[in-house]
This record gives sequence, C-alpha cells and structure tokens, in this order.
Amino acid sequence: LIIPEFADFCKEIATIYKKLLPVKGGLNAQYIPQLARVNPDFLGISICTVDGQRFNIGDTDIPFCIQSCSKALNYAISTAELGPKKVHQHLGKEPSGIGFNQISLDKNGLPHNPMINPGAISCCSVLKSGMSLDDRFDYTIGEYKKMAGNEFIGFSNATFLSEKSCADQNFAIGYFLKEHGVFPEGTNLKQTLDLYFQLCSVEATAESAAVIAATLANGGVCPTTQVSCITPDAVRNTLSLMYSCGMYDYSGEWAFEVGLPGKSGVAGSIFIVVPNLMGICVWSPPLDALGNSFRGIQFAKMLCQKFSFHQYDCI
Ligand code: GLU
Repeated sequence: LIIPEFADFCKEIATIYKKLLPVKGGLNAQYIPQLARVNPDFLGISICTVDGQRFNIGDTDIPFCIQSCSKALNYAISTAELGPKKVHQHLGKEPSGIGFNQISLDKNGLPHNPMINPGAISCCSVLKSGMSLDDRFDYTIGEYKKMAGNEFIGFSNATFLSEKSCADQNFAIGYFLKEHGVFPEGTNLKQTLDLYFQLCSVEATAESAAVIAATLANGGVCPTTQVSCITPDAVRNTLSLMYSCGMYDYSGEWAFEVGLPGKSGVAGSIFIVVPNLMGICVWSPPLDALGNSFRGIQFAKMLCQKFSFHQYDCI
C-alpha cells in the first residue's frame, strides 16, 4: 500500500477538517450569480491515492463547477494530443504576477501561461480545433470523465449562460489576443470563448475531482480504472505549471508554503497533486482576496505542516 497506515492518515485529515469547520473568512464569487448563491458553509475534503485508497469527509458528494481547475485539464489534454511545441506557440510558461483575468501578454507577445484566463482562452483555441464546437465539448468532457474514473462529471447550463452574460472582460481578453495574432489561423473567437465558458461550467464533486487529481499524481493513469488518460510528458508539464502558476497571485507563496502542484477555481475548489502518492480536492466556496478558497488554502498549509508532502521536504 502506498500509504500503509492509511487509517491513521485519514484520522489526521479528519482532525484538520474538524479544525477548519468553525473557520470563517472569505466571500463567494459574486460576479457569477450561481456561485454567489452556494451555501458558504460547505466544506469537503476528498483523497484518492495512486493505488486507489479513498477518504472523504464533509460535503464531498455535492456538485460544484470546476471553473479554472478546468484550465489545468485543458492544458494537459491539449499538450498530450498536440505536444508542448505546438501548444506553446500560443501561450507561455511564466507566472504573470497579475490578476487572473487581466489583459496581458508576455515578452514574446503570448499569454503568460495556461492557468490564467488569457492563456486558458488561447489553450481552448487549439483544443480539438478541427472539430465542431459540440464535438469539441463532447470530446473534452469525455476526457474529464476518463480522468475521473467515470465518477460524477456534470454540466451547469445556468452557470454557462451566466458566464456568457457577464463575459465582457473575457471577450475583451479574446479580442486583444486575436488582435495580437495569438490564435491559430482561422480561429472562431466566439466558439473558442463558448468552449472556454462551457468547460468552466463542467461540474464535479470533491470525490470525483480527487480521482482527477490522482490521475495526474499517477502519471496520467486513472488509479481506479487503470485507463491511460494523459501522457506522462503532458502530466509533467501540467504539474510544473500548476506548481508555478496554479494559484493566481498566490502561486509564489503557495510554492513556498505548500510546495505542491495545485489549481484553484472560483467556485471554491482546489485540486492538489502529491506526485506519485495521491490526489486531493478541497472544496469550500468562500474565496480570499486573491480568489482562492479561504479554507482550501488553510487546509493545504495544515496538510503540509502535518506531513512532509512539500516537494522540497527532506524526508
Ligand atoms: N469562468 C471564470 C472566469 O473566466 C473562471 C475564473 C476562475 O475560476 O479563476 O472568470
């Protein structure tokens, strides 16, 4: 067993969960009504090890939109299919140091990285670009389901419609990228943005999201089905960018304090990958000032204080 004393490990996670329950702080995302309305007291923590051991505590079977956690999955799927050389003709590998939805390009005239909106929109422009929009969505959500071991993956049409209705900032980013020749020739911007909004509106639960994170921890092979989902090279590239850019403007602090590949989303989820060991999803809707889950960050810090999971811990 990858964690022989798994019951003891779970007891420690349960202790952290109980310490977090009374912790209040942060505010649900307000710009998307469906996110603003979610019960802010929800807290779920799910773990899936690379040999399929599972632990769930709290609100782990309640669907939420994965939002920007989809950015890491879209990058993994694109680079697995097209290779990093092609994908990185359209986006970079650098942390941006500015807000996730700011209009910005790097020194090469490309979006800084795939974990913020400019890079994610650019990544969607290369994601199965030869197919019709419906087939592009079907293909991509099918890949999500494979990574989730066919556990819960849903879609919130209300969130998708809401995203589209409050999308001026993302349309501004899209037109800016188009103006600067970031997209492949012949890209349909409206379709690209629709695909981006749809993938942000895909739903998971903490339980199914933990399996997705465990697939990334397991070199791209889903630990519960043994299905190969993402190539090992694409996993390595994805984890590298989750580590350096996955947590908005907290990414540097995250790499220092937590030291694990992570990706947050504005519905309050954080996908955490402990490479070769486990995937974790923590979900608590209220966000801190930087847009990361307030209690999700607290959980990650407490986890790495308790266990030597930090990539540079000397064990
Ligand atoms: N759909 C959201 C947006 O584009 C995603 C934000 C996030 O989860 O970081 O603003």
